[in-house]
Amino acid sequence: MGKVNQMGKLNTTGEDTSSSPPDSTEESDPLTLLGSMLKEEFISKLLRLDERIPRKKREPITLSAAGKCQRAAMYRIIGAEKHSWGWRQRITLEDGDHAHTQLRKYLKSALHTRKHFRLMDQEKTVSLNVKGIEVRGHIDGRITRICDCSDHQDWPRDTLLEVKTCGPYTWPRFSIGKIPSDYQAQATAYMAAMGITDTLFMVKDKGTGRFEFIPYRLDKVLLEQIFERLGRITRFLRGEGTSPDLAREYGPDSKGYLPFECNYCDFVLKCWKDNNPVKMTTRAVIYKVSKEVFDIPEPIEEKNR
Ligand code: SF4
Repeated sequence: MGKVNQMGKLNTTGEDTSSSPPDSTEESDPLTLLGSMLKEEFISKLLRLDERIPRKKREPITLSAAGKCQRAAMYRIIGAEKHSWGWRQRITLEDGDHAHTQLRKYLKSALHTRKHFRLMDQEKTVSLNVKGIEVRGHIDGRITRICDCSDHQDWPRDTLLEVKTCGPYTWPRFSIGKIPSDYQAQATAYMAAMGITDTLFMVKDKGTGRFEFIPYRLDKVLLEQIFERLGRITRFLRGEGTSPDLAREYGPDSKGYLPFECNYCDFVLKCWKDNNPVKMTTRAVIYKVSKEVFDIPEPIEEKNR
């Protein structure tokens, strides 16, 4: 005799299928139909919201993007149309924002102390002058040593605190100190703006709620590279540079698959339009450069400059 699963259907194999998607025999089940209808309603609401709410206008060049591709900055400067992921992007980004807000609240109550160390400057704007242009960013916080006691006198006076959340795939590496390169660049730019050399990343695994504090120190070679990249972008912003200076910083592998940085870039279709990007359906968001045409955007125009 088989089991009855949560959908109230007899499972003749005795297999637990309560978490599996409904199969074709369940297509006429009223509860399954209700679930499908609710899903449709939910997505259509999200799509309407996506159309109505204007996207936050971001500055074309920020310290948080210090390690990101210079060509993406160029597209932002010329006002190129972004490639939207629609409602999934909206939900994913909002998830990250909520997780951040939650951690900020707990950090504030836990670390606004008078005992040796204190959290200051949450969400403070900091800036770096790059070839005459102020490039700004917002730090998550600064941990200040407020004591000179013998136990802590050799510890840093000021430490940048950067809060990051990650998924279960990134957590195993990040939690043991393998910090993603764009986060290293972001922290390096912030430390330079603050005139300090120490950072702690507070990293939370969104899947399990585990967290760690990961140390990171200013890297002078990386800082030089950041100034060079930001310098090329500010030159372009002032109309002194040309777009070949802002070459793509990433490219496809030998099989034609684009890397993570491109797959999650707002301008992936614009950037690779001449290489016929095709969205692969077997993976989450992967583009492959091939001969089939998926959705070729308009040519890049600098009309909005
Ligand atoms: S698609 Fe890739 S190479 Fe092009 S701008 Fe984005 S990150 Fe840079």
